[in-house]
Amino acid sequence: MTALATTVSDAVIDRLCSAVGPKGFILDPDLMAPYLLDERGMYRGKTPVVLRPASTAEVAEIVRICAETGTPIVPQGGNTGLCGAATPYEDGRAVLMSLTRMNRVREVDPLNYTITVEAGVILADVQAEAAKADRLFPLSLGGEGSARIGGNLSTNAGGTGVLKYGNARDLVLGVEVVLPDGRVLDLLCGLRKDNTGYDLKQLFIGAEGTLGIITACVLKTFPRPGDVQTAFCAVASPAASVELLSRARTLSDDRVITFEWIGSTAYDFGMRHIPGLRRPLVNDYDHYVLIELAAGSAASGLRETMEAVLADGVENGLVLDAAIAESTAQAKAFWKIRETLPEAQKSEGVSIKHDVSVPISRIAEFIDVASAKLTARVPGIRVCAFGHIGDGNLHFNVSQPAGGDGAAFQALHHDINRIVHDTVVGMRGSISAEHGIGRLKREELQHYKSPVALDVMRALKAALDPKGIMNPGKVL
Ligand SMILES: Cc1cc2nc3c(=O)[nH]c(=O)nc-3n(C[C@H](O)[C@H](O)[C@H](O)COP(=O)(O)OP(=O)(O)OC[C@H]3O[C@@H](n4cnc5c(N)ncnc54)[C@H](O)[C@@H]3O)c2cc1C
Repeated sequence: MTALATTVSDAVIDRLCSAVGPKGFILDPDLMAPYLLDERGMYRGKTPVVLRPASTAEVAEIVRICAETGTPIVPQGGNTGLCGAATPYEDGRAVLMSLTRMNRVREVDPLNYTITVEAGVILADVQAEAAKADRLFPLSLGGEGSARIGGNLSTNAGGTGVLKYGNARDLVLGVEVVLPDGRVLDLLCGLRKDNTGYDLKQLFIGAEGTLGIITACVLKTFPRPGDVQTAFCAVASPAASVELLSRARTLSDDRVITFEWIGSTAYDFGMRHIPGLRRPLVNDYDHYVLIELAAGSAASGLRETMEAVLADGVENGLVLDAAIAESTAQAKAFWKIRETLPEAQKSEGVSIKHDVSVPISRIAEFIDVASAKLTARVPGIRVCAFGHIGDGNLHFNVSQPAGGDGAAFQALHHDINRIVHDTVVGMRGSISAEHGIGRLKREELQHYKSPVALDVMRALKAALDPKGIMNPGKVL
């Protein structure tokens, strides 16, 4: 690989600024600051310039200049990522490219069930544009009011609709990408069938900006559900949750769109710290699930289906109690319990987070085994787990023992990560189900990914980005 420039010269900065015009760059350190701190406040980076191109041509021109001068580029969308991937390193050698001005909806095609948008469109706006055409864009997650679709694709975001609709990867039909040499790779088609060789678009999805810059994409849309039924249930155990999910899928003719599990520690934290949260059930239990069923038509008898699913669960000893939302407001109140869990956990001191997945059938075993090992290592540790159990994905977070020494607990993070990740990998699971690798999990990736897989990844990186200018030091 060609050596990267150690500094960005004033001449290069001038060329980059001229490529985007006066509205397209920021040099004032105060105005640059929000782009340089990551969502979790773990990394504060440096850059000589924030570039804000407004078109694919401007992105391409910036990349050409960077390729010619060996200048690293860090792409950024909404800067909501959770592993430091969108933050430049502290050495100030990389320019930051924010895609937020590339925020046009290029086409809505209801008959093709597609929407074509630029990378900087906010995820919630993609959903709203689809809804205007009576279509559903099902990607949905906590940060959707700020995250941009280019960032969602680059992290292969999951969220609450994966069970039914898949990850971001499954929702993309085409992409437009500026390659690390500045050429535009136009794969912007809305085809559901195209067997003309390698599926190149998939290379850039989940690549965290290390292989090129996504400038636009064609996304799949779906019919909007006419009826959604939401229930909050107490369940007997994690194993009962998994069994309930399986039975619910069969009994509802596979109309389960969400299945979220919440352990009692997480639930209790929410009730203790989030103002306005109300208990949906009279008593407290050890395990809860939030289930959502959806159907195309409001006259589909979905309410009765939900009742039948829950009654079957009670009969089989899986469900201990349940409440079905009587209104949209009540459904939102159920969701608020799930969505505010990360916030609630902050009030309980130091938390060490793991975003992991295992096969759905091994979720219960994973929770038992990992919890037992952690308790043996740190007596009093509080496993605050919750997650998209329908996708085999848990946010397996652990909080410091109550009233304990936070710094001493933090100092154990390496041991704790090892316990959790060894258990995950022992079950052929993943150490990063949703959030990606970025900077945070680079060493973990080296430790756990097979050497052959790492070789293939490095070969792809070298083939597409021989100068190593695209988001260097992230992922690999
Ligand atoms: C409150 C909250 C809840 C969340 N819940 C979930 C969840 O349930 N499920 C889930 O999967 N994730 C979840 N996330 C993570 C979420 O998926 C990511 O934060 C989001 O997808 C990143 O989008 P962004 O625009 O903010 O990207 P950024 O943070 O700006 O960037 C993320 C990565 O993508 C790269 N990138 C950004 N734009 C481009 C582009 N156009 N071309 C190439 N590379 C690019 C960056 O370099 C970086 O590597 C959550 C995040 C928050 C804050």
